[in-house]
Amino acid sequence: MTVDQIVPKVMAGGRVSAAEALELYRHAPTHLLGRVADAIRARKHPDGLVTYIIDRNVNYTNICVARCNFCAFYRPVGASDGYVLGFEEIFRKIDETIAVGGNQLLLQGGHNPDLPIQWYEDLFRAVKARYPEFKLHALSPPEVLHISRLNQVPVATVVARLVAAGLDSIPGGGAEILVDRVRKLLNCYGKASSDEWIDVMRDAHRAGLRTTATMMYGTVETHEERIEHMLRLRDLQDETGGFTAFITWSYQPEHTEHGGYEETGVDYLRTLALSRIVLDNFDNLQASWVTQGGKVGQLSLAYGANDMGSVMIEENVVRAAGAAYCMDELEIVVNIEDAGFVPKRRNMHYELLGDPVFRERDVPRMLALATARADGDTSMPEELRNYAARSRAGKALRLGQ
Ligand code: SF4
Repeated sequence: MTVDQIVPKVMAGGRVSAAEALELYRHAPTHLLGRVADAIRARKHPDGLVTYIIDRNVNYTNICVARCNFCAFYRPVGASDGYVLGFEEIFRKIDETIAVGGNQLLLQGGHNPDLPIQWYEDLFRAVKARYPEFKLHALSPPEVLHISRLNQVPVATVVARLVAAGLDSIPGGGAEILVDRVRKLLNCYGKASSDEWIDVMRDAHRAGLRTTATMMYGTVETHEERIEHMLRLRDLQDETGGFTAFITWSYQPEHTEHGGYEETGVDYLRTLALSRIVLDNFDNLQASWVTQGGKVGQLSLAYGANDMGSVMIEENVVRAAGAAYCMDELEIVVNIEDAGFVPKRRNMHYELLGDPVFRERDVPRMLALATARADGDTSMPEELRNYAARSRAGKALRLGQ
């Protein structure tokens, strides 16, 4: 089919095949892709609202054995600048998040061999004991798999134990491109194959958890493989209905082993628009202003996005790869209103929580995102001594050697 034949089919609510998606991606003019994606967004969200969440993106450790070659964030076991956050440090971050109206941590980290499952359970229980209403959107599928392998516990049991400890939902990180050829080239096949990523999400959905889904594009994949990724997500969503949202962003190359360059803003908008067209069973698409900047983030609202993502407060992973955009609640709200929409705060389930916090009370402006720790602080939290380390470096550190 040609673009002229596919567009009316999509506008009438039809589902595109892989071949039709590729035809649109390759040949539809950018403004036309945007118009179609915007029509779908308006059909799904006729109320003119654009949502956002106030939460904090905390990375509990940067020590990782996975060593994905597109990642500038991780440090190998034993590195002098490797860290694990202490429970008290995490509590302080939660206090700061609540102070600016936040309700959730997005908690992700490296695959640290020296953190047994009990560490995660104790942390989650301690958070819930102090902050019963606060939400933990935590541990992407590869982290769940890592915990499963490290502790020799099945994935479904890991999920059940973490939920019992306080896990509320799972972020869709670590998906990159769900095609094994790509994953092998990016050295991320070992942390999770495409099937394994999908299987963790299926287990989580069956356990009653809602999750998000992501796609990081712009490394070694073809256009066909981007579409294959979207179709795998669409299939699982047909099966479980467990995804609340889809977020896509471009690979950030600085300081990575893979290197290369970043895809353009037009490529981002085309990819976002195509996602809206292909993922017809996803209600919510987030704008990735943290990788694209505020201006392209705002334009995303005309290319299929209905959500500005997170105010975020803290960010470490994308910053390590060269992107350091920051928008506080005021700036996000101004961008939404300027694009002709009404801003509303939401939670992870996309339930509306209210109007902007800064219009209800004084909130200090946030002009830069916080980091996990002050530069050079690699101190070891005292409670780590309570958990058995697996690596030689971890054991030595716990003995104070
Ligand atoms: S992307 Fe995640 S799993 Fe891969 S090296 Fe970085 S921290 Fe580790």
